Amino acid sequence: MKFVEERIEDLPDRCQLISVEPKQAGARLEEAKIIVSVGKGLRKKENVQVAFKLANLVKGAVGASRAVVDVRWLSHDHQVGLSGKTVKPRIYIAAGISGAVQHLAGMQTSEIVVAINKDRYAPIFKVADIGIVADAYWVLSELVNRLERENDENR
Ligand SMILES: Cc1cc2nc3c(=O)[nH]c(=O)nc-3n(C[C@H](O)[C@H](O)[C@H](O)COP(=O)(O)OP(=O)(O)OC[C@H]3O[C@@H](n4cnc5c(N)ncnc54)[C@H](O)[C@@H]3O)c2cc1C
Repeated sequence: MKFVEERIEDLPDRCQLISVEPKQAGARLEEAKIIVSVGKGLRKKENVQVAFKLANLVKGAVGASRAVVDVRWLSHDHQVGLSGKTVKPRIYIAAGISGAVQHLAGMQTSEIVVAINKDRYAPIFKVADIGIVADAYWVLSELVNRLERENDENR
């Protein structure tokens, strides 16, 4: 994730800095070797940040289903599928994504698909190499915690 750096003292007097938005890492999606992709199963916009944390730790990028883009949790840059980007990473993690045909059209040639979904009958499991039936936010958070712990131990 990239942050825009602004020095408040450099702003003209009449300007007020209201917020600094993190740049969303969508541009690297097609080149990324690991994609952490999120669907409506993440339940709320704030939860999507865990995908950025994981993507940062594994030097990957964040993808999204159209449902996530439609509700503006993420920009269209992140959308994978028929009306989004076609990707072919080594590992595609589909977290809380149902696996609609339009989504599969953009990612099904990924080398390894890891699907995390609460519904064991979700269509995404038909194209998954590794399937995890669980809460997607919980699994992504656990992965982040474990990788952060490992990084701390290796420092
Ligand atoms: C012309 C056209 C083009 C389209 N192009 C695209 C496209 O490019 N890309 C795209 O993605 N879609 C596209 N769509 C939309 C597509 O049909 C689906 O509506 C969309 O992919 C659904 O997104 P989703 O899986 O995130 O959401 P949902 O369909 O709402 O599925 C959410 C999934 O999350 C699971 N879930 C719920 N709670 C949890 C939880 N706590 N933990 C884990 N899992 C949970 C549910 O079991 C479900 O499987 C297109 C549709 C049309 C008609």
